[in-house]
Amino acid sequence: MTESIVTRFAPSPTGYLHIGGARTALFNWLYAKGHGGKMLLRIEDTDRARSTDEAVNALLDGLSWMGIDWEGDPISQFARADRHREVAEQMVAEGKAYYCYATQEELTEMREKARAEGRPPRYDGRWRDRDPSEAPEGVAPAVRLKAPLDGETIINDKVQGTISFPNKDLDDLVLLRSDGTPTYMLAVVVDDHDMGVTHIVRGDDHLTNAARQALIYSAMGWDVPVMAHIPLIHGPDGAKLSKRHGALGAEAYRAMGYLPAAMRNYLARLGWSHGDEEIFSTDQMIEWFDFDAIGKSPSRFDFQKLENLNGHYMRSTEDAELLEAFKIYLAAIEDGQEVLNWLSQSGNEGKFLAALPGLKERAKTLVELHQSARYLWVQRPLDLDEKAEKLLSDDARALLGRLAPKLDELETFTAETTDAVVREFAEAEELKLGKVAQPLRAALTGRGTSPGIFDVLEVLGKTESVARIRDVAH
Ligand code: GLU
Repeated sequence: MTESIVTRFAPSPTGYLHIGGARTALFNWLYAKGHGGKMLLRIEDTDRARSTDEAVNALLDGLSWMGIDWEGDPISQFARADRHREVAEQMVAEGKAYYCYATQEELTEMREKARAEGRPPRYDGRWRDRDPSEAPEGVAPAVRLKAPLDGETIINDKVQGTISFPNKDLDDLVLLRSDGTPTYMLAVVVDDHDMGVTHIVRGDDHLTNAARQALIYSAMGWDVPVMAHIPLIHGPDGAKLSKRHGALGAEAYRAMGYLPAAMRNYLARLGWSHGDEEIFSTDQMIEWFDFDAIGKSPSRFDFQKLENLNGHYMRSTEDAELLEAFKIYLAAIEDGQEVLNWLSQSGNEGKFLAALPGLKERAKTLVELHQSARYLWVQRPLDLDEKAEKLLSDDARALLGRLAPKLDELETFTAETTDAVVREFAEAEELKLGKVAQPLRAALTGRGTSPGIFDVLEVLGKTESVARIRDVAH
């Protein structure tokens, strides 16, 4: 039997699920799903000041919104500190690590000396082979790894290829600080080992950490997991991703009206490709995803592309599903409650669904859908935007006054029947259709632009439509 695949996503709680983190999570998830494995979630919460419940929940919430799930409960790195200490002590007992009694002053001096001599700051190994009986009194020791002094450490990375790090550059790293807290480097290795992680997929900013971590694995006699270090995401201009470029949290993308399926598709293509395919379902991604098609250079975040892709998903998502996504979006934005209330009233979801096929053709995001569907829930008398106000001149208001009874006479009130009435009316008035349709649009929606006016009439129904027209008509 082949070993079953275990990946993990190991975010530090920063207050939100950063877009780069979302992609890392997605890659781990896709790989595990596609290989009959599982993805675990470990919260690297050792920075206690930042690791509030709120910050952790923001991560979980972001992942859930993205549709990325994990196996079992999230694992807290902080909660495992005793186990990290135990491993460090075991390494000391086995001669793989040692107590270092160097004081802060000595370490500072070491660093300064190295700097003065133009060398990288390295620990000089002064306690490496010293007998602990020489330990100064009253100094709490740190635990350092007895790292190899020469040779090299090789990382066979699935994305970066074979990379070798001269061991002389990787000094005796600290495993436990003198206050007994484990270092990040130790914690990651012990956790990944204990969690049975077989594949580590993460940003390539962790590549040099990989070499140091490999030393810890080998000191413990543990197998190093398969590693895949993915290039970071850059902005469209090639510079490091900043807020301006889209280095935002998942919740920001939710509020900008993107669909989770579009986000998954877009993020999957940020750094990974499958031939010329641009649009793939989640099942296809799971089937196709592999490390060999991850590029070595940073990918560029492009809002325009995301928006276009989202437009595609808006059009191709089933109406009922799109309604659910719309509700999730509404619940996450500041002024969404009013529309949620409206939707919860009897008959209104039906109205929304009736309008949706026309609306979703033109909306690239849920924000645009929110705007274009606005006519559904606005209350009479409608407030008019500037353009609508302009369209509703005295003449136009008088025109609508003549049109209203004709619409009111209709027995079946559909896009077709209203279309016929309005055309006939325009002809009788010797006007182009637009001259009637535009003020009509303003009257029905309060806006100068709107979805197709006959669809609007049908969805609103006769009573509401005629009432809105009469509100502005002379
Ligand atoms: N907590 C690290 C980060 O957020 C990830 C560590 C890892 O994947 O090994 O960058």
